[in-house]
Amino acid sequence: MPCKTVLASSVAAKFTEELKEQVAAHPEHRPLLVGFLANDDPFAVKYAEWTGKTCVETGIQFELRRVDREQLEEAIVAANADPAVHGIIVYYPVFNNRQDQYLQSVVSPAKDVEGLCHVYCYNMYHNIRFMDEEKTRKCIIPCTPLAIVKVLEHLGVYNTILPYGDRLHGKTVAVINRSEVVGRPLAALLANDGARVYSVDVTGVQEFSRGPGISLQRHKVVDKTESVEDILPLCDVVITGVPVESYKVNTALLKDGVVAVNFSSYRNFSDDIKQKASLYVPSVGKVTVCMLQRNLLRLAAYQRPQPAN
Ligand code: NAD
Repeated sequence: MPCKTVLASSVAAKFTEELKEQVAAHPEHRPLLVGFLANDDPFAVKYAEWTGKTCVETGIQFELRRVDREQLEEAIVAANADPAVHGIIVYYPVFNNRQDQYLQSVVSPAKDVEGLCHVYCYNMYHNIRFMDEEKTRKCIIPCTPLAIVKVLEHLGVYNTILPYGDRLHGKTVAVINRSEVVGRPLAALLANDGARVYSVDVTGVQEFSRGPGISLQRHKVVDKTESVEDILPLCDVVITGVPVESYKVNTALLKDGVVAVNFSSYRNFSDDIKQKASLYVPSVGKVTVCMLQRNLLRLAAYQRPQPAN
């Protein structure tokens, strides 16, 4: 079968090596990541365990703090103020409602390794890539959308001949998931990089793009009347994140040679995807954990006192 299956571990390997080198280069500044677990959600528990394992590998200090969800806000506030803590991650869902969004913004931007606080979300949607005018401090991008960008770079979907920021020009992508933590930010990031993105959720299809000739500075969003069945045959890349076991993309509708990426905990592509796709990535979780650590090292470096000129 001509389809190549690309495992997240093979994409993550290069980043793990980079992380190890960066941590080893500053033994006096070994960063501390604090994870807050305030639920028994099996995926959250697994994510927390996986974070711990990979931090051992890279040399990052990781402390998992199990807290009662009613004490979580105060625990985050204390970690924000603690100079020994360089990064904070909360394993969601906690309340599984708007309170989780509020908690995301309680985390200080200086320590927000997940990139989910308001200022980072705003900057991402507005295609603002730096925190300062001198462009010395990059904005933090949410880990899973960033991991998927890195997977697409690894696969060569980003055309490196094109200028940075326009490297998806000419590509049509479907993202089947429009959650606030993955699907919507991912559609915005890919559209800001020049792609035409069809964002699909239970309510229908939207198009994210920078318009004809990628003339807009940031993406715009348009509601579409087309169905997922209409748009799938147009897509060079199909990314899925539907959190139910029964959901399967109809392989027959896909373009021959499509790039298929699944980030759901369930397999959203059937086994016959390998007869249609050129590249197939069954999961991205291992790359997500690398991005979490990459964001941590960036924030830890920004927190270090800068040498006087
Ligand atoms: P969510 O429940 O918040 O969002 C699910 C999205 O899928 C929604 O936009 C919903 O409208 C859409 N959807 C559901 N059924 C659909 C259907 N039949 N057709 C089209 N769209 C449909 O979930 P989430 O937090 O975005 O997580 C989604 C999945 O991704 C979960 O399985 C989660 O475990 C996984 N996940 C993986 C990573 C990782 O790094 N690998 C990170 C976060 C989440």
